[in-house]
Amino acid sequence: MAIIGIDLGTTNSLAVCWRDGRLELIPCEDGEVLFPSVVGYVGGEGFLLGAAAKERLLTHPSDTVGSFKCFMGTAKEYRLGGRTYTPMELSAMVLERLKRNAQRLLQEEIEEAIVTVPAYFNDKQRSDTKKAAQVAGLKVERLINEPSAAALAYRMAMGEEDRTLIIFDFGGGTLDLSYVECFDNVIEIVAVAGDNHLGGDDIDRAIQSYFCRENALAEEALPLEALARIRHLAEQSKRALSAGGHADMELTVEGRTCRARLTEDILFELCMPLFEKMKQLFLHLLEDADSRVSQIDDLVMVGGSSRLGVVRRFLAELLGKEPVVLDQTDRVVALGAGIYAGIRRRGEEIRDMLLTDVCPFTLGIGVRNRSGQDKNVLSPMIERNSTLPASCRNRFVTTSDYQREILVKIYQGEEYYVDDNVYLGEVAIEVALKPAGQAWVDVQFTYDINGILHVSVENEMGERRQILLANQALTAEELERYTKEMEKIMLPPIEQPANREMLARFLAYFENSTGERRERIGAMIGYVTRGLCSGRKKAVRNAQENARAWLNMLEEAQETKEERLFDGRAFESWEEEDEDWGDGEESRDSEGEEQDDRVEDWNSRKENRGEGGEGDGDEE
Ligand code: ADP
Ligand code: MG
Repeated sequence: MAIIGIDLGTTNSLAVCWRDGRLELIPCEDGEVLFPSVVGYVGGEGFLLGAAAKERLLTHPSDTVGSFKCFMGTAKEYRLGGRTYTPMELSAMVLERLKRNAQRLLQEEIEEAIVTVPAYFNDKQRSDTKKAAQVAGLKVERLINEPSAAALAYRMAMGEEDRTLIIFDFGGGTLDLSYVECFDNVIEIVAVAGDNHLGGDDIDRAIQSYFCRENALAEEALPLEALARIRHLAEQSKRALSAGGHADMELTVEGRTCRARLTEDILFELCMPLFEKMKQLFLHLLEDADSRVSQIDDLVMVGGSSRLGVVRRFLAELLGKEPVVLDQTDRVVALGAGIYAGIRRRGEEIRDMLLTDVCPFTLGIGVRNRSGQDKNVLSPMIERNSTLPASCRNRFVTTSDYQREILVKIYQGEEYYVDDNVYLGEVAIEVALKPAGQAWVDVQFTYDINGILHVSVENEMGERRQILLANQALTAEELERYTKEMEKIMLPPIEQPANREMLARFLAYFENSTGERRERIGAMIGYVTRGLCSGRKKAVRNAQENARAWLNMLEEAQETKEERLFDGRAFESWEEEDEDWGDGEESRDSEGEEQDDRVEDWNSRKENRGEGGEGDGDEE
């Protein structure tokens, strides 16, 4: 059974496997390894995922959602196609697709995954991530923190000597800083700091505003469609700049040709407010780690936005030395997860690596406020950034005369008043009948490496009550309900049962042939696969039609044993046609048409599965 590593990102997700002693990135059906974490709903039809959905993010904002990871663990719900979805369910859809992609590559069932989460994720967020995996049919024994994964990948690339690192993970919507110590096969996260609203998207928005300013366009008054195109151009130009030099932006907006030039210096200027925030986060991190810049051996840049030269420049200025930029910064976390998957499979090379994590938030209980106010305050048991596993025991006394019981309420968070923190659960226990302050209980917190909090309370009579605040699994009914929802997800053509069956027939013919005939069939397989993966309606339809015709021909040839069919002219025309397809991009940008084509095509799954009535808004 294979284990894969998954970076479930805010903007992009990707999966990696460990095979034959090396790491392999798992491609999506379009050949890209980055899978946009975006889910879209197409009127009365079903769900689109990934790149196809990302294209609709700005043009169909009410039917498309991205960045839902930011709201993992909260009560936020997204309304799509007549019902609401939680970030957990949307994440499950993404995970399910990644699993499917991996199964296609590895040709075996994937049942287990190592999934990465931000180090600051709280218990609820972690437990929702696990639930999402469960809905996607993946067992997740262990979540690992993104910076731990990045540090693992760094060690693989740079060697294993003792080092103190700051992992600078700059993604699409978030910046996460982690102070990490690597020694003797141990990777320990000492402290974390971050901003949930600071990422590449903010840079895109800044460039978008710059473009509008330069062209005297009233940004707020522009139609969504125009804004979508400007934002797209902004991101493109940003990427172009990551290679250095400048980018010339040009776009027709409302019938007028607008231009602007983006240079490194201008971008640096535009990013100033973001850099200022970054600097504050660095200070915060160093303070929490009780450290200084001079004690850091390397600053390791990961995340897609780390490709930007201006960010590198800023960090070099801030630190007084060059940061380390690993290859393909946006894949580093996933590679680390893959390495860890290898560890779990006892891959020889990396067997002995250990990971230690920290508790990213403070855990404690509510106690009476000494100032006599009504509101209870948080009494910390396990401080944030404690190394896991962590354990702590404290004694608490009664606050009323002859009170019968003590209610221990458990919270996590950094706020003074418990009401401002996250409530996790409670345990009640009887206490000895005594005047206030004389009866007591001992409270013990143990927080383990899997993020499971065990709280036990013992009174002076030796009685004990306990509660396990685990990442609760889903109930059977919940699982069934969610799994049913998953069936509404539209499959890309290459994954649709009818098309898969068609390809399987070609493969069987291929196996049973030799020589020129075998070569011909091989070419057909290549052609059909390319067509099905092209993401373009016409190409998919041609591939299907031709495939059907060829299969008939192959069948006929087999029955009549007529080799003649194979040297005839039947193939001349398609070979030419295949050439035409080579350029791939042709009408991508020609407004709505292409997009709708795609949608229609992906929908054909329904016919293939014969479940025509689904998805038209029936409520739970
Ligand atoms: P996340 O971890 O948030 O899921 P990623 O690490 O994949 O996201 O980063 C996505 C961000 O990286 C996007 O904002 C994207 O525009 C940006 N990005 C990707 N490639 C480049 C590049 N070559 N230059 C600049 N930014 C890039
Ligand atoms: Mg990331």
